[in-house]
Amino acid sequence: MTRPAGRGAAAASHDGRFRYKLNAMPFVITDPCIGTKDSACVDVCPVDCIHPRKDEPEFEQASMLYIHPEECIDCGACVPACPVAAIYDSPESTPASQKHLIEANAVYRAGDADAVARAEALVKQHAAEHADLMAIAPAERAAAHGKS
Ligand code: SF4
Repeated sequence: MTRPAGRGAAAASHDGRFRYKLNAMPFVITDPCIGTKDSACVDVCPVDCIHPRKDEPEFEQASMLYIHPEECIDCGACVPACPVAAIYDSPESTPASQKHLIEANAVYRAGDADAVARAEALVKQHAAEHADLMAIAPAERAAAHGKS
């Protein structure tokens, strides 16, 4: 069986940072995953594009899980699997309050220490700028996304 290609459009710019065309990015994990990392999404993803998995060394330190934008095939299986409604089906449908986490999903690469550090720094920036959301229990956070 031929594996469908994802629709991510990534490119490294002159400063080494990843740049993404937002209209080419797929599903996005957002802040209800911070402190949750349930991994039910990992179990249902048919192309193993959600990381870190529990068996990867970055799992314990990771603040949340991330979807690889080039490998995601937009199947949607992860959305109902997530117990805290953390996953949106595109950057366009992701609330503005989650913009740093759109980029964090875009840059995270399991096994790449620099990419992991960049993604985690974006998560910390998000948490610092949205203390209101972080003060809400993860399962209730998505309901507040549009208000922050
Ligand atoms: Fe994996 Fe499908 Fe979710 Fe993409 S939409 S992260 S392929 S389960």
